[in-house]
Amino acid sequence: MTQARAKTEPLSFTASIDDCIVEWFLKDKNEIIKKLKSMGFRRSAVIDRARELGLSEQFLKWCALGNPKVAMRACLGCAERFLSVGVQNRLCPRCKNRS
Ligand SMILES: [Zn+2]
Repeated sequence: MTQARAKTEPLSFTASIDDCIVEWFLKDKNEIIKKLKSMGFRRSAVIDRARELGLSEQFLKWCALGNPKVAMRACLGCAERFLSVGVQNRLCPRCKNRS
């Protein structure tokens, strides 16, 4: 066993990591989960994060039907990034409910 743990800082999910997770979930690319793992993310943590972003089984089934242009996009209301299902979808669920 090798001890390669130099830092114990918690890993944070940055915008680019979120993009990777979305791509991994939608396209089921093995190299993406491998990359995330090599960065120190546990698979279970990545799956938890995917849930947080709104990537559910139901969502994936819906995607398979409509083939939407799913990506993380900045909300026009609050500038938070959220899981958007197309270029016309620019309000996060929170802002959508508010308006
Ligand atoms: Zn918003």
